[in-house]
Amino acid sequence: MSLDNKPYYTGGCQCGAVRFRVEGKVGEGSVCHCRMCQKASGNFYAALASVREAKLTWTRGEPRRFASSNHVRRGFCAACGTPLTFEAPDGVALAIGAFDDPAEIVPVIQWGLEAKLPYVDEIPALPGEATLSDLAGAPYLADLVSYQHPDHDTETWPPERSNQP
Ligand SMILES: [Zn+2]
Ligand SMILES: [Zn+2]
Repeated sequence: MSLDNKPYYTGGCQCGAVRFRVEGKVGEGSVCHCRMCQKASGNFYAALASVREAKLTWTRGEPRRFASSNHVRRGFCAACGTPLTFEAPDGVALAIGAFDDPAEIVPVIQWGLEAKLPYVDEIPALPGEATLSDLAGAPYLADLVSYQHPDHDTETWPPERSNQP
């Protein structure tokens, strides 16, 4: 939320080459299990929120688009590959995970159930661990340095550093 009480949201890709700002109402969050969304997101399903009723501004860079069908384009960062948009004739939706605060956008409906992967509903019942709970098995985690863009807008990016390990 902004100082003048107008809601706004920011987000972008993992490398920071593409950043967006959304002013106004973000529509209901959804997940889509359809096979096209699985392939486009490289994931079990795509999590998207419509911004058709809001003002979407690309504040750094802009996504490259792939026409995944005759009606829909999918936007992604050309530098790092992060999936960012679903662009249909009736409006644009943004990937919920690309928002700086994805917890603000709650999915309320599922689409594409015909292609839902058979194990998706079992995931919440799987055993779970925090990232740092297995330092013995993955000791590199102890001094891990993220090269991802932080979850807020930046004046300049990237910072001075080598991007190579
Ligand atoms: Zn990127
Ligand atoms: Zn879909």
